[in-house]
Amino acid sequence: MIGNGAVADKVVVVGAGVIGLGCAWQLARRGAGVTVFEKGRRGSGASGAALGALWPPAARHEGTLQKLHRESLWQFQEFVRQVQDASGLRISYLRQGKLELLTSPRAVAQAEAETVAANASWPPLEDGRPVMEVLTRRQALALAPQVQTREYGATLCRRTAQVDVAELLAGLTQACQRAGVEIYEATAVERLALQPGQVAGVYVHGELKPASAVLLCAGVETGGLGGTVSALAPIKPIKGQALLLRSQAPLLDQIVKSGKIFVVPWPDGRLLVGSTTEPQAGFDLANTAEGVAWLLQGAAEICPKLKATKLERIWAGLRPAGPGKRPIMGIFPGVPNLYICGGHYKTGVGMAPLVGEWMAQLILTGRMEPHLGEFAPGVPA
Ligand SMILES: Cc1cc2nc3c(=O)[nH]c(=O)nc-3n(C[C@H](O)[C@H](O)[C@H](O)COP(=O)(O)OP(=O)(O)OC[C@H]3O[C@@H](n4cnc5c(N)ncnc54)[C@H](O)[C@@H]3O)c2cc1C
Repeated sequence: MIGNGAVADKVVVVGAGVIGLGCAWQLARRGAGVTVFEKGRRGSGASGAALGALWPPAARHEGTLQKLHRESLWQFQEFVRQVQDASGLRISYLRQGKLELLTSPRAVAQAEAETVAANASWPPLEDGRPVMEVLTRRQALALAPQVQTREYGATLCRRTAQVDVAELLAGLTQACQRAGVEIYEATAVERLALQPGQVAGVYVHGELKPASAVLLCAGVETGGLGGTVSALAPIKPIKGQALLLRSQAPLLDQIVKSGKIFVVPWPDGRLLVGSTTEPQAGFDLANTAEGVAWLLQGAAEICPKLKATKLERIWAGLRPAGPGKRPIMGIFPGVPNLYICGGHYKTGVGMAPLVGEWMAQLILTGRMEPHLGEFAPGVPA
């Protein structure tokens, strides 16, 4: 049953990013008939630009969003296993940790407090090692000899993981299709068929596609759907540039972060470097000389040997950001069969396991996780 009494014969999901596909799969697994309309190719929005870094927000950040994000990350490995099983495709997922370089005595003091909080409250590791440690420069160099660690040392977060996002998107697509989801690429939803008190479906190629529920996962273009959606779901683009380096032999064994720049290494020699944060850029997707130079310089400061690696690809993506950089998730006021899940900004990949489950539960049973209410459309951030 749809939460509000209609039969779940046809849920339409708008957008095939990691959030739309994640929700579609969770809906289909629970028996719903699901159709996904994607205006480009699956993953052609922000999801295809993501670096797949999965680090938990600071343990001392106790806001609802941070708690949900952590909860989702703790589920990620199991989520990957389930998508692999359902799709038959391999998805690379590693938990090699993150080394964050410290640059001042103040940063060291904060890292120490953060370490105490993380070790006290995060799920312990299977091998009993602490989830987080502050390392001296000498210890950091022993762990990562290629990294230019300063005298203040570094924190090592062993709960940080990474996923190959292209493989995850391929796996989710295949899992969806095996569960009966129909996915139409190059098929934009032009508008919603809004009627008093309900949405009757969506228009594609000028034709009404009836639906018993519509879930909007259209990322930065959600507002383009007009009417109540634009007013209550003002999701804005925040551009991020990134690049891919390739080394012959692996140079780094864990994610390394210094200031705003981070490098995600894979054992096959790929090194993903991210990312700029450009809220003024609007919908512009161009790579700029300044952006690329900043990333290359930052990466070389982290690990000078990266200067000799091959620059394989540069790209930019538009992160969907809800008001206050918080996601918008839930039911539109006055339209009880119109739902949204979007605006996850820098955390959409990491949040996908949890929000997919919660949205499917909300749409199919009407049961709303108590925390979801904070993120409903129209609720002030
Ligand atoms: C450079 C960069 C690095 C990032 N790194 C990370 C990271 O390391 N970890 C992390 O967790 N997150 C990261 N993110 C953030 C992450 O990419 C996003 O939070 C996430 O991809 C959002 O997913 P989504 O499905 O909501 O949006 P999108 O992936 O943008 O999907 C929306 C889809 O809707 C489609 N669409 C739009 N309008 C319509 C329409 N009218 N009809 C049909 N389809 C439509 C679009 O074509 C698009 O495919 C990064 C983002 C960027 C840009």
